[in-house]
Amino acid sequence: MSLIKASATDLLGYLQSGQVSAVELLKQYLDRIETHDGSIHAYLDVAREAALERAESIDRRRSRGERLGALAGLPVAVKDVLCTAGWATTCGSRMLQNYCPPYDATVVRRLLDADAVLVGKTNMDEFAMGGSTENSAFGVTRNPWDLTRTPGGSSGGAAACVAAGMAPLSVGSDTGGSIRQPAAYCGVVGLKPSYGRVSRYGLVAFASSLDQVGPLAATAEDTALLLEVLAGHDPRDSTSAKVPVPDYLLASRQPLGALRIGLVREHFGAGLDSEVDAAVREAVDWFRDEGAEVKEISLPHSRYAISTYYIIAPSEASSNLARYDGVHYGYRTDERAMLGELQESRQRLLQEGDNAGAENLDGTLVRMYRKTRAEAFGPEVKRRIMLGTYALSAGYYDAYYLKALKVRRLIRQDFDAAFNEVDVIMGPTTPTPPFRLGEMIDDPLKMYLQDLYTVSANLTGICAMSLPCGQTGAGLPIGLQIHAPAFHEHRLLQAARAFQQGTDWHIRRPDLC
Ligand code: GLN
Repeated sequence: MSLIKASATDLLGYLQSGQVSAVELLKQYLDRIETHDGSIHAYLDVAREAALERAESIDRRRSRGERLGALAGLPVAVKDVLCTAGWATTCGSRMLQNYCPPYDATVVRRLLDADAVLVGKTNMDEFAMGGSTENSAFGVTRNPWDLTRTPGGSSGGAAACVAAGMAPLSVGSDTGGSIRQPAAYCGVVGLKPSYGRVSRYGLVAFASSLDQVGPLAATAEDTALLLEVLAGHDPRDSTSAKVPVPDYLLASRQPLGALRIGLVREHFGAGLDSEVDAAVREAVDWFRDEGAEVKEISLPHSRYAISTYYIIAPSEASSNLARYDGVHYGYRTDERAMLGELQESRQRLLQEGDNAGAENLDGTLVRMYRKTRAEAFGPEVKRRIMLGTYALSAGYYDAYYLKALKVRRLIRQDFDAAFNEVDVIMGPTTPTPPFRLGEMIDDPLKMYLQDLYTVSANLTGICAMSLPCGQTGAGLPIGLQIHAPAFHEHRLLQAARAFQQGTDWHIRRPDLC
C-alpha cells in the first residue's frame, strides 16, 4: 500500500500496530525522493544509509517490546539551518559548505529522543534570508505544484518536501515568515511558535530576537504532533520560556466552541491578490457558519511592520554574521593566492613609485577577512549586512535601529489591544500566490513586500500559522494565516483542525508525474 498520502498521525498508528515497519515506510519516502527530488530539489542532503540503519534499529526495539518515543519510526526532514552533529549544516551558504557541527541542536536532539528518523537536510535561502529559496548557494528549490514557481522561503525545501510527499513532517525556522510563507505557497501547514516556545540552541542565528524553530506538516494534527516534540524549556537557550507544554494533539481535537475572530482592516487593502482575498474570506465564512463571531479590527501600526522588520532583522544579522571571519567557522579564502596577490600589488605600487600606497595596503589579516566574506557570502546576505551595519552605525543608530525598536513596541501594543477583543486574528498569509522563479530576484523591495502579513508575529513574539484554504484558478495553493496570543499555539491548532475536519484543501496534493 502507498503510504505517501497518509497523515503522520495515521502512519504512527500503522507503525504501532505493525501494519508497516519503519524500514518499509522509510523506503517508500526514499523512493519518492529518488523519483521527484531531481526536479524539485527540496533536499541538500539525504542520509539514506544512516536513516535505514536507524529505522532498522527502531523496528528491532519495537519487536523487543521496548517503549518508544512519540515519533517512533516517522521520517522527518530538517532545514539545513539546524545543527546536526557530524552531518554537514550549510545554511544554504558557501560559507558553511563544509561545516560539520560537533553537536546537535536541541530540537534535533528532541527528534532523536522521540525516535524520529532523520531523512535529510532541506534547502533554504542563504542564512534564511529570503522568501523564495533562490538565495541558496546550492541551487533553487521548485514548487511541486508548478515547477516554474517558487516554493517560497526561506524554508522552501522544508515546505516542498512535505507537499511532494518526500517527508511526512519537517522542521523549519521563521524569522519573518519563513515557515508560514512557504507553507502557504506549497499548500501545507506551517506554524511559527511563540518566541521562547522552542529552543534556538543549535539554530544558526539570523536575527536572534525574531528567530523561532517550528513544524511543517500536511495537517493540523500532524503539526500538533511535531510541535509537542519540539517545544519546551531548554536551559541552553536563555530566551527559552519555562512554560509547560500542553498535549497539543489532544488540544487540537477539542471542539471549537464560540470563537471570536478578528479580521485586520489593514490586511485586506492594496496589494492583495483578488483570488487570495476571496479564498481567505471564504475560509472565514466557514468559521462564521460554524458559529464564530467575526469582527473587523484595526492594527494601526501594521503599515510600519515591513520597515521595522527590515531595520531590526538586518541589524541583528550584521552582528550575528560577524562570526564568519574565516577563522572561527567554515570557509577561508585561499591564503596562498591571497599572499601572491598582495605581493604583486605591493610590487606594482613600488614600481609606480607609490610608496605610500604600498605602505597602506591592507595587511594579511584584514585582507583575509575581506576576501573570505566577499567570496563566501551571496548578494542578499551582503545586502543585509550592509543595511544592518548602516542602521547600527554611530549617528544612525537612534534614527533607525532605536526608532525601529520603538515602533516594534507600538505594533505589539496593537496586537495586545486586539486580543482583548478577539481570540484569534485571521487573514492572508501572503499577498499573492507563489510567484515565478526569477520574477523578483532582482527587485529586493518587491520580494520584501511579500512578508507584509507575516513579520508582525515575529516582531511581537506571538504565534501564528498558515494552512491551505483554497486554490487559484490555475491550481496554485492559497494560505490562511491565523494569529493567537503568545503561548496559545493550542488555539491555532484547534481552529485549524476544525477547519480541516470540515474542508478538504489540506488533502489536495500536487499532481507529480
Ligand atoms: N523573507 C523574510 C526575510 O527575507 C523572512 C525570512 C525568515 O523568516 N527567515 O527576511
